[in-house]
Amino acid sequence: MRLIRCGAPALERPGVLLPDGTRLDVSATVRDYDEEFLGGDGLARLRELVRQRGGSLPRFAEGARLGPPVCRPSKIVCIGLNFVDHARETKAQIPKEPVLFFKSTTALQGPDDDVTIPRGATKVDYEVELAFVVGRLARHVPEERALEHVAGLVLHNDYSERAFQLERGGQWVKGKSCDTFAPLGPALVTLDEVPDPGRLRMWLKVNGETRQESSTANMVFGVAHLLSYVSTFMTLLPGDVISTGTPAGVGLGFDPPRYLKAGDVVELGIEHLGQQRQRLVPFHG
Ligand code: ZN
Repeated sequence: MRLIRCGAPALERPGVLLPDGTRLDVSATVRDYDEEFLGGDGLARLRELVRQRGGSLPRFAEGARLGPPVCRPSKIVCIGLNFVDHARETKAQIPKEPVLFFKSTTALQGPDDDVTIPRGATKVDYEVELAFVVGRLARHVPEERALEHVAGLVLHNDYSERAFQLERGGQWVKGKSCDTFAPLGPALVTLDEVPDPGRLRMWLKVNGETRQESSTANMVFGVAHLLSYVSTFMTLLPGDVISTGTPAGVGLGFDPPRYLKAGDVVELGIEHLGQQRQRLVPFHG
């Protein structure tokens, strides 16, 4: 199943994207894709609703805006340096254990919304990433049971401001958390729709030029290991987003670096998960 949320920012309603592109509005039955929905039997009930009444459910208007496919989660945990080629291009060591950092949940936005260049920013960068959404409370989960705690997969562009991230002292979180820096979607895709999460083609273009092209097969640590690992340090709640890192080709990796500017268009995708498109706009106010 492909879960979507449609409507104006902060007023999105839950829906289901069908294989033929139809976007069903399920808001009469489901309040939102949140901790309660994902942690209970929401997905099973939704599957049944679509099977029994899919033909008679209302549709979202053609061209309606997509929001992030989950309601604001308790946290976004990101994995750093999880691709060997990306670690090399940033002149970092291949990590022995996953590198974790947080991204503010207020950075979340829809997959095709404009991205705002933050006030004072000079080094805005993109990162195509496979993210997964937690489907069941997870605390010290062994790796062999980890996937039972995953609701599904989603495309994420982990935007970064490299000067805030690397030149302002302390942790990476400063460069990762600006408003609009976490486009998520188009859909939360349940695991049964994806043959092998460890073998998905991923790509990103800036103004039509390919910058990143890789596969989740090149990840140092896979989805199951990451959920298990993170759950030894903190309790993961249903709806939490974990983003698994980016391959080589980010702006920081070029010599000289190639950062984004107002007017640039970033397009990205991951096999089976869909595509995103963002336009960079200047800060106002
Ligand atoms: Zn990242």
